[in-house]
Amino acid sequence: MTDSSDRNLSRLLVRLSVFLFLVSATSSAVAQIRPQRKLLLEVSGVERAELQKGLFAYDDYGGAIISSLPGRISVLATEAERSVLLERGYDVTTVAQDTSELTLRKRSLYGESLELPSIYHTYERILEIGDSLMATYPNLIRRRQIGTTTQEGRGIFVFTISANVNSELDRPAIMFNGCHHADEIIGAQISTEIMRTLVAGYGSDEEVTRWLDSYEIVIVPVVNVEGHYVVTHNIDPRWRKNTRDLDGDGILYEYGEGVDINRNYDFNWAHGGSGDSTNSRYRGEHPFSESENRAMRSLASDRRFLLSISYHSQGEVVYYPWSWRGRTAPDDKLLTRIATGLAESIPTMSGDTTYHAEYGAGTVGQSYPWLYGRYGTFDFIVETGRGSHIFPLEYVPQIVESNLKGVRYLLRQAGGPGLALKVRDADTGNPVEAEVWIPTIDSEDVDRRRTRATGSHWRLLQPRRYGVHVSAPGFETAILEVEIADVGWTDAAIELTKTP
Ligand SMILES: [Zn+2]
Repeated sequence: MTDSSDRNLSRLLVRLSVFLFLVSATSSAVAQIRPQRKLLLEVSGVERAELQKGLFAYDDYGGAIISSLPGRISVLATEAERSVLLERGYDVTTVAQDTSELTLRKRSLYGESLELPSIYHTYERILEIGDSLMATYPNLIRRRQIGTTTQEGRGIFVFTISANVNSELDRPAIMFNGCHHADEIIGAQISTEIMRTLVAGYGSDEEVTRWLDSYEIVIVPVVNVEGHYVVTHNIDPRWRKNTRDLDGDGILYEYGEGVDINRNYDFNWAHGGSGDSTNSRYRGEHPFSESENRAMRSLASDRRFLLSISYHSQGEVVYYPWSWRGRTAPDDKLLTRIATGLAESIPTMSGDTTYHAEYGAGTVGQSYPWLYGRYGTFDFIVETGRGSHIFPLEYVPQIVESNLKGVRYLLRQAGGPGLALKVRDADTGNPVEAEVWIPTIDSEDVDRRRTRATGSHWRLLQPRRYGVHVSAPGFETAILEVEIADVGWTDAAIELTKTP
């Protein structure tokens, strides 16, 4: 080899290595980026599974299929994908064309104006509705703040509904909450309608009147206030998590950032969601790292809800606690009965059947295992509607109406049968905060239930005889034998004696 050919060879090697570097950089980028889809199509007359064959691999949230509503599928596509659909003979309409995928998503989910239909409430609007209800029904509804959001410090509010709502209430408490997930906005809609229906029905609707006289009903219309802002202010209809600025670059609405606050509760947190911060189910750095979750914790530990519903979308299914690696919940029979009844009380969008109930996993940092495992609350995740997270406006009234039937079903369950226990200090007569457990039911999987600061405790039970154990620091543990009646609350009182 001559000198010059050596030089040529080394130049060639340099070029080759630069080329290889470029190839590897490009191919790794290609592996992460989906095909550039510039078309928004509506395809009708075909099932989602059929349409997907060989196309539109479902890549989690932000996938190419935006929604699949009865009779029409909304999908992002490349020209090539569109050709395949036409070749297959499907009915394909090109709705819009744009280089920005976000714009196409907005077009699909918000409509031609690229703005969320005004039937959906912003948080400001929800608070206005609540305030106007408070002005009209000052003795039935009040508002209070339970915390602020993680990133932007916005207020998180709850509305309490009960007869004589401004007095100290010591009644069984039931919660309804919406929008842990920002894009599942129908939950806020349902929660707002629950508020209206309950206060307006007091005095005229016999059942509603009885419920407000007997229970404290707590509504958290929007848990994820800052994420809900992103969706309802037309910024990004895909948003699911809160807006925690994980990389600290000061850009708040950067898709992929944020924490999934329905994976941030501390019950089996490590087993749920994802540890990858870009994942749509990112569980956060540690349990209760997010202030939305801490707000919910302070509310739950204060009220120790008997029953609750957390509204999500979609799927027309009710998830409940739990099938924990094959083990069921200590209250499985009751939970299954109520979850099934709740599901069967809610008609589906097609109207020919109802929602169905399924066990959720116990091993996730979600609200239902947390509320049940820590506080004994029977919490149900209701996945409202089917085929989209944000529904076209023509579906909204029906989904809300159907779910109000579920609300009525749940509130009917709050009448028992069960145990209404009052725990006092034998010496002073003062209420005692005590642990209350039934060894024949409760397992190590759940925390012991506790009375409130008022010494009161309600627990739904199947009618039969139970040995109820009551203990508190500084007192002798007591065992109460109770026969739970077939209907209503069985009242019982126990006085604890101080340890000598
Ligand atoms: Zn959800």
